[in-house]
Order: sequence, then C-alpha cells, then structure tokens
Amino acid sequence: MSAYIEEIMATVKAKNPSEPEFHQAVEEIAESLTSVIDRHPEYRAAKILERMIEPERVIMFRVPWMNDQGEVHVNRGFRIEMNSAIGPYKGGLRFHPSVNLGILKFLAFEQVFKNSLTTLPMGGGKGGSDFDPKGKSDNEVMRFCQSFMSELFRHIGPNTDVPAGDIGVGGREIGYLFGQYKRLRNEFTGVLTGKGLDWGGSLIRPEATGYGSVYFAAEMLATRKETFEGKTCLVSGSGNVAQYTTEKINQLGGKVVTVSDSSGYIYDEEGISSEKLAFIMELKNVRRSRIKEYVDKYTKAVYTPVDSSADSNALWNHKADCAFPSATQNEINLKDAQNLLNNGVYLVCEGANMPTELDGVKLFLDKGILFGPAKAANAGGVAVSGLEMTQNSMRLPWTREEVDERLQKIMKSIHKTSVEVAEQYDTPGNYVDGANIGGFLKVAHAMMDQGLV
Ligand code: NAP
Repeated sequence: MSAYIEEIMATVKAKNPSEPEFHQAVEEIAESLTSVIDRHPEYRAAKILERMIEPERVIMFRVPWMNDQGEVHVNRGFRIEMNSAIGPYKGGLRFHPSVNLGILKFLAFEQVFKNSLTTLPMGGGKGGSDFDPKGKSDNEVMRFCQSFMSELFRHIGPNTDVPAGDIGVGGREIGYLFGQYKRLRNEFTGVLTGKGLDWGGSLIRPEATGYGSVYFAAEMLATRKETFEGKTCLVSGSGNVAQYTTEKINQLGGKVVTVSDSSGYIYDEEGISSEKLAFIMELKNVRRSRIKEYVDKYTKAVYTPVDSSADSNALWNHKADCAFPSATQNEINLKDAQNLLNNGVYLVCEGANMPTELDGVKLFLDKGILFGPAKAANAGGVAVSGLEMTQNSMRLPWTREEVDERLQKIMKSIHKTSVEVAEQYDTPGNYVDGANIGGFLKVAHAMMDQGLV
C-alpha cells in the first residue's frame, strides 16, 4: 500500500469509527487506485478520492409506526447521497435489522463505481432502515413504508435521487413506498425503480441482477473458451438475486446444487431444476417461509442449519466449478475461499455486494481464478433500473427482448471495460482493478470538469 493510500485509510478510520464495512470497501478501491493516482497527480491535487469518500449528504430520520396490536415501534431511516457527478443519486433501499450507517455508506460508495461502469448517467446512493420485514403482516409493512416515505419524499425525485429495492425491499415494499410518494407529492413520476409492470416498471427488472451476474460470468468463461454447459454451481441466498441467477444458469445448461437463507442452506446433488426453482419462488416470495421446507418436498436434498460457532460456511465446501455468492456482505472468509479452491471452483461471481472478505479476494487473485467483483458482476440490476428511468422519461415501455438485449450489451461492455482497463494498468486478468479503475475514471473526469463542489 502506498504512503498516500495509507494516509487516506488512517483518515477514513479516524473520521468514521465503528464502520468496518465502509473501511473495507474504501480499502479495496484505494488499493486499486495507486497506479491511477501515480499517473494522474492532478487527481491527488484536487483531492478527488478524499471527496469521493465523503458523502455529499447523509439523511437520518425517525420512522415511527404501529403494529397490528396497536403497539408503537420506532426504527431509524437513512439515505446516503454519495456522489452525483454523473447523474442523480441512484441505489437501493435495504430493510434489515443489521442496517446501520456504516453498512449503507459502504453500499453507497460501491454504488458510485458500479453505476459509472454501466455507462448510464447515474450517480450513487443507498438507503434503508433497521426495520425487519420478516414476520410482519402486509399491513404492518405498508404502515412502515408509508412512515418511511413521509420523511424520505422531501429528499428524492426523478432528477435528484431515485431509490430502488435491495435486501428486504421487493415489489411489495416498492409499491407501498411509491403510493405514499405519489400521494404526498401529487405527481406520478419515475421516482423509484423496481415498480410493478402496470404502473411504470420495466420488464426484466426483477431478473436483471441475477441474469446480469450470469451474463458476466459467461463472458469470463468465454475468455477461456468455455460455456456454462455441464458446470456445477454453488449459489447462496434464495432471494431476488439468487433466484434469477439459478434460473439463468439452468437456461445456459449449468446445474445449481445449493441455495440458502439466513437460517441455513440446502444441498441438492441432482440440481435445482426449473420446477424446484418455482417451488422456491413460491416459498420465498409468496409464503415468505424458510428454505428448510425445501427438503420436506425434495427429500433427497440435505438441509444444514447455520452454525454460528463454525469458522467457515459449509455451503462453500462442496465440489463445484463456479460459485455465486448472492446473499449478503462478507459471506466468504479466507477459509471459505480456500475451501472453494480445494473443491475445484475456478470462477467466483459476486451477485451480492462485497460478499468476499479482503483476504479471500486476495487469495482468488493470487490463484488467478476468474473472479468477478460485485461492482461489475451485479451491475445488471441498477443498469435495468437505469433503463426503467429512460422508459419512464419517454413514457414508452420496451419489450422483454429489447430490455434483455440491452442488459446483455451492458454486461458485455462492463466486462470489456474491466479487462481492458486492467491491461492498461498492468494487472491483466484482474477484474477487481479493472472495475475499480474503470468506474473511478469516469466519475473523476466529471468531478474535475465540475470544479470544487
Ligand atoms: P433479498 O431478496 O432480500 O434476498 C436476500 C437473501 O439473502 C435471502 O435469502 C436472505 O435470507 C439472505 N440473507 C440476507 N441477510 C443475510 C445474512 N446476514 N446472512 C445470511 N443470509 C442472509 O435480497 P436480494 O435483492 O436478493 O439481495 C441479495 C444481495 O444482492 C445483497 O447483497 C444486495 O445488496 C445485492 N444486490 C441486489 C440487487 C437487486 O437488484 N436486488 C442488485 C445488486 C446487488 P432470509 O430470507 O433469511 O432473510
């Protein structure tokens, strides 16, 4: 690490104590940028990186709501408006009890680079709440969303900040949030993405992150003249990203043998066919139940509950070719990374945000496997969100084929940029450096053009 980057990291840690995920995200980017800063002293003089690390605006607010028994609850709401150099702030909302300022700052920071890579004009932001939608009735979720939006509405807008979904925020929550925004503003605009198809949503948006991740992985495989045909894949999570990752792997001839939730995972050696995936979708999206129920129906599969005392996650310890972490941050530690390599995995594609700890990433890069970092690999979701914004502005929806074709083009372009930039900066094959530097350069140019703001 250069002295300059060490200095930046020391300042980040001193100014943002108790935010380890934010430190981790900044460190990963900062390390990639050493050679860029050497080649562009003007960025250092203009303190571009120092400015990128500081959010343009952080909004924190009280979210009071009432449960079905008439009891009052108070949650905390956040919106981090990180960087608007290349477009309105854009990024998801996460509802999960683990949500705090540091986690949302890491996500917002990552989002800036990811959005830049998509080639679309979107700045970076992220938000959410420590509210847990699990076990809540639809009415409770609606009251919470309405209360959350009653504050958020004054900070967002189609040309200012356009939130979307993330963990715990799917079509149901986006609907309630949109309804309340429309009521308060008295206007129907594309202020949120991930909307229902009947009221401004885009085809392929629910599929986009998972499909995009698999398209990115297919590009990585193509560099070795390989395809998904016959590949065995480990997938974690069983939410939006995991579901559509599984669907696309199946369509391309691969076999998915695991999915999980926060209670445990299932291993199905025969593979999760489209019929079994339909069962998971109903289980998770409609009944909102636990993945454990999979083995009641498909009795040859094995369920393993989470063991919080273990030093590794058994899900990553099965023979496979490819792994798609698609649940949450830091779900692959160094031991998991080693287990994946020992089991023959030579492609890891990050559907979730920052699912691999830094020393795990270093191991993958040292071993030269195909490693697709989140900000490149999972950019398909925000890319189609960007396409949803375009369709809303035109007031004209595109067909499924049209959106899917654009998504594939965008994922190919992100892959190409990552490969080419990594080569230009003397780290060929390193998608982490390629994506970090590629995402950074566009935002840095824009910030230089726009002066000291
Ligand atoms: P989701 O639909 O809410 O699903 C999340 C899945 O991960 C669920 O299976 C959940 O299990 C599991 N999970 C959540 N927190 C966990 C934890 N602490 N430990 C273990 N498992 C956990 O969310 P999603 O949209 O698929 O998002 C998954 C990841 O992809 C996140 O990192 C998100 O930031 C990233 N991502 C999403 C999008 C998008 O378009 N949705 C775009 C880019 C990146 P439970 O059911 O038990 O909660």
